[in-house]
Amino acid sequence: MVQGRRCRYCEHEFQPSKYQPGQLVCSQPDCQRQRRADYHRQKIAADPEYRQVCRESPQKWRSRNPDYWQLYREKHPESVERNRQRQRVRDRKRRLGDLANNNSAFDLKRSAAEIWLLGSGLEGLANNNSVPAQVWILEALPPRKPPQSESCKQQRPGAQPASAG
Ligand SMILES: [Zn+2]
Repeated sequence: MVQGRRCRYCEHEFQPSKYQPGQLVCSQPDCQRQRRADYHRQKIAADPEYRQVCRESPQKWRSRNPDYWQLYREKHPESVERNRQRQRVRDRKRRLGDLANNNSAFDLKRSAAEIWLLGSGLEGLANNNSVPAQVWILEALPPRKPPQSESCKQQRPGAQPASAG
């Protein structure tokens, strides 16, 4: 049994959390609020950087700490990669939007199917692909001219009807 401790704010006895054996304040919300406010005050008095962060607007702080995000990116490469993926998707959507506006393709339809796999041996493509959505634009070839039938050919003089004879 851990010995009870007296809260410095409400002066009631409490059991310190086993995770925070040095706990000096009981867990009542009012006491915890007071504890945070005191911490804030002390920190402002003691820590010039903390003081600066609290006083300045976030924009100002960022401009004074330009390498903060650089350092953050170096420490969190996975979030950088995630953002890069999102940017890539945004870029692609924009390019497709431009394409739809500028292009002679007259019928760009949205399809519920995102990936069409044609033929065998393409299963690996679906699994390896990290792109969340794939859009394929297929350009149709102009229809081939049907072979001209005999009746459309220019008639040879010798085949003219013998009406003039
Ligand atoms: Zn208390």
